[in-house]
Amino acid sequence: MPNSDLVNVLTALVGTQNVVASHDHMAPFLSEPRHRFHQTAKAIVSPRSVEDLQALVQWANAVRQPLVPQSGNTGLVGGQVPLTGNEIVVSIRHLDGVMALDAGAGHMSVGAGLTLQKAHEVAEEAGALFPLTIASQGSAMIGGVLSSNAGGVQVLSYGNARELCLGVDVVLPNGNLMHGLNSLRKNNTGYDLKDLFVGAEGTLGIITAATLKLFPRPEGYETAFISVAGPDAAYELFGHIRDRLGTSLTAFELMPRFGIDMLLKHGVIGRDPAASPSPWYVLAELSRPRGGREGRLVESLETGLGTGLIADAAIAQSEGDRQGLWRARESMSDVQSREGASIKHDVSVPLAAVPALVAEGIAAAKRLVPGIRPCPFGHMGDGNLHFNFSQPEGADPKAFMAGAEPIHAAIYEIVTGLGGSVSAEHGIGQLKTHLLRRVKDPVAYAAMKQIKSALDPHNIMNPGKIFDADD
Ligand SMILES: Cc1cc2nc3c(=O)[nH]c(=O)nc-3n(C[C@H](O)[C@H](O)[C@H](O)COP(=O)(O)OP(=O)(O)OC[C@H]3O[C@@H](n4cnc5c(N)ncnc54)[C@H](O)[C@@H]3O)c2cc1C
Repeated sequence: MPNSDLVNVLTALVGTQNVVASHDHMAPFLSEPRHRFHQTAKAIVSPRSVEDLQALVQWANAVRQPLVPQSGNTGLVGGQVPLTGNEIVVSIRHLDGVMALDAGAGHMSVGAGLTLQKAHEVAEEAGALFPLTIASQGSAMIGGVLSSNAGGVQVLSYGNARELCLGVDVVLPNGNLMHGLNSLRKNNTGYDLKDLFVGAEGTLGIITAATLKLFPRPEGYETAFISVAGPDAAYELFGHIRDRLGTSLTAFELMPRFGIDMLLKHGVIGRDPAASPSPWYVLAELSRPRGGREGRLVESLETGLGTGLIADAAIAQSEGDRQGLWRARESMSDVQSREGASIKHDVSVPLAAVPALVAEGIAAAKRLVPGIRPCPFGHMGDGNLHFNFSQPEGADPKAFMAGAEPIHAAIYEIVTGLGGSVSAEHGIGQLKTHLLRRVKDPVAYAAMKQIKSALDPHNIMNPGKIFDADD
């Protein structure tokens, strides 16, 4: 179909102002945060109602037109951008209403196009907390957050997106709307289809709305930047603090000195947050419930000092201090780009295996590329590290990236050997389809494919994502 005819069809379905087909206007929907994937699309369509979205999907199914669901376009594995250029990108950004909220009962129902930041604000205005916290929350939207089963820094205590979701409304690949917004904590009525769509990366349908769990707002936070000798000590420390603080320990993040040095060198932070120089640090945070006793994090650290688990700790004395510590943590990935090229992995292993992962991963990478600068950091309390490597100082970035494959292979082999996952929280998208086929249990992989073809027999919903296009 010539593009002008296509645009006529689309505008008849969703209205003129909701269809974009010119190259310049499509650009923001086509480039993703890491600039890895470069494809065009036939059009970008942004329906303003669920009914219009249903009509669009029904038409696409009838004519076998591939669709790419998109929310905030902050995904890091290319799930939300086209693979071949033959697709239509469906932006759900206009479906951003707040339908219901009950802070006392602990839930709210919102449109999939609401940004995560706005969802935080809506909960906060009602005196509640929606705890899922990621650095991209100003742009990321509920539909994308659920579809990628996002994690972030408070999974330790509150769980990831899947655990924070009670129900979803979904437009299926045939255009039917599956109603699933419910606030029930107990609902054993057959298969839990919600869990199928959360984490499906837009391959099974388009989420239009969701019911999310809310929690009581903490009265305050206690935040510490702790010097530790290495990941072994961090692991021991985690057990020590967790044992004393339970689920009020809401974050436990690992960072190497190299990362702090980069933040200082490039002026991302003004002063060294550490109480003393150390090869590794932990950023730990306690969320204090209303009426909870103050100073419990410091108490648990004092007993840790006594056992030699920690070398030293800087305690945030104000909200400004706390924000500064979090800025350091959240800038760790970005600042690497100022040090030249970097090779990145989002992986998880059983918690006890984190020290082995770090030691073996660093040794393997250094064998492959002498001078490589390891920067493993992240959600240690969840066993999830962003195992990144910066190029050797002065190296040619292109030559460094040309050698990425053996480093990926080495890290993924170590991760799978330790019983871990090659994608902890970012998903598969188009980046890791080949890996998934290799590492997933073959029976589970076949079952996933059967589910996909049962719900989407014409493969119109985000084809080539999760599963290889030729698979
Ligand atoms: C600076 C930065 C920090 C980040 N930090 C974290 C982090 O700590 N933890 C983490 O888990 N992730 C993180 N991410 C990754 C990303 O922000 C998350 O995956 C986020 O949840 C994606 O939301 P989005 O709205 O941008 O989705 P998009 O990027 O638009 O889409 C993501 C996936 O979901 C699908 N999709 C989108 N909307 C729908 C829908 N309505 N129905 C069905 N499928 C849909 C897309 O097709 C795609 O496969 C980070 C990204 C950046 C850029």
